[in-house]
Order: sequence, then structure tokens, then C-alpha cells
Amino acid sequence: MTANLVNLTIDGIPTQAQAGMTILKAAQQLGIDIPTLCYHDYCTANALCRICVVEVKGARVLVPACVATVQEGMEVNTQSERVQRARRTILEMLYSAVDLSEAPEVEAMANALNVDRQRFPDAEPRHPPLIDDNPMYIRDYAKCVLCWRCVQVCAEDAQYTYAINFKGRGYETQISTFYEVPMPESTCVFCGQCIGVCPSGALKFKRQHLLEMGSTMDEILQMTRSERAGRRRRAEHPA
Ligand code: SF4
Repeated sequence: MTANLVNLTIDGIPTQAQAGMTILKAAQQLGIDIPTLCYHDYCTANALCRICVVEVKGARVLVPACVATVQEGMEVNTQSERVQRARRTILEMLYSAVDLSEAPEVEAMANALNVDRQRFPDAEPRHPPLIDDNPMYIRDYAKCVLCWRCVQVCAEDAQYTYAINFKGRGYETQISTFYEVPMPESTCVFCGQCIGVCPSGALKFKRQHLLEMGSTMDEILQMTRSERAGRRRRAEHPA
């Protein structure tokens, strides 16, 4: 090991990487693409989705490449049968519970891994109702993959607003405002960063949603303006 550099192999290719670098970044240096879902270049890696797992020789379990760091002498396999099976199963479980019709990155991964989208036909898809409680965004958590990116950019990764977090546990887990208050009553400043990082179409600008629903721009402007005016009136003259 020379100063701050460690020697390892990735998919049989000898390489050197900076000490402390993640396996994901070391693989990228070699042009090896490890698929990710919850990971985003501008968010803190949290290893939630486990799509990026890789096999490390001698390790008992698969390790998440987005947070595991390179070590001297490490032998990493990013494409073994065990790795592919794990990624495939994760995606098959996602398809059993989440509407992924607007998640092109997931679709591409699923195609590459020959995912069986009907593997768990008796699973119960999540169908929380679409939330339309403000003039700017709609939230459709039936499409949410719980990647946590929106919560992170709303907090320390960007905005320091802390408008959203999760509610519930296990199958019932969902992103929500604190105490589930409507968005305008939360600390949200409508910066749009959550929408910018959402990979699944769960968060959308309301105008985009209305356009997709077939409304014209004129209708949308009328709708959102009168909605804003109504909210302002109600705020100034509460019942
Ligand atoms: S709403 Fe979007 S960004 Fe937030 S956790 Fe769900 S999929 Fe991720």
C-alpha cells in the first residue's frame, strides 16, 4: 500500500484506489457500472435499497458498494450469480408492492436482470391515495420506492427545512410531513429539490401532473391561481 492508496481487484482487474473511497466509486474509475437506486451523487449514501450489493471474497454477506470502502487486498465481484440473484429478488419484491410505471431507471435495471415482475402474484401492492394538498406539488406514494432522497435533500443534504420524514413501519412505511399535516402547514418552502431527486415519479410538479392528465396550460393556470387565492383567503379569514 503506497501512501493513501490501496490495491484491490474488481471483477479480476487489478486497480488502486484512494483509501476511504467506496467500492462504487472505485468501480466507476474502472468504467464498471454498479446499479444503484437510493444512491444519488448529491445525497449522503445510506445503503437502503441494497441494489448495489457486491461480493467480496471472504465476506460472509454481500456488501453495499455505495458505503463499503476499499481495503488492501480486497477482491470484489460486481457481477457474480449471487449478486445478480440478490439484485433480481430486490427488484421483484419492489414490483410486487410499488407502481414502477414512471421509474425508467428501475425499468432499465429490471430488463438487464431479467426480472420477473409477476414473481409474487399474491403480494399486496401499496395503494395510498394521491395527495393533492397544495398548488405546487402532488405526491403519489403508490410510486414511492422509499429511497429517502427527498427526505435527505429536505434536511442536511441541501435545504435544512425538515418538512418531511417517514411515518409507519415495515409495509406501512411512507414518506410524510411531520404529524401528517398538509404540505402548506408544514415547514416546506416549495424549493422543488425533493422532486429533482425523486427517481420514481412519486413527487411531481402539479402543472406536469395536470398536463399529463390532459389539461391545457390555460386551464392549469386558472386552476392553480384560483386554488392559491382560495388558500390565501382561508388563511386570512379562518372559519
Ligand atoms: S418520494 Fe421519491 S424521492 Fe422520496 S423516498 Fe419516495 S421515491 Fe424516493
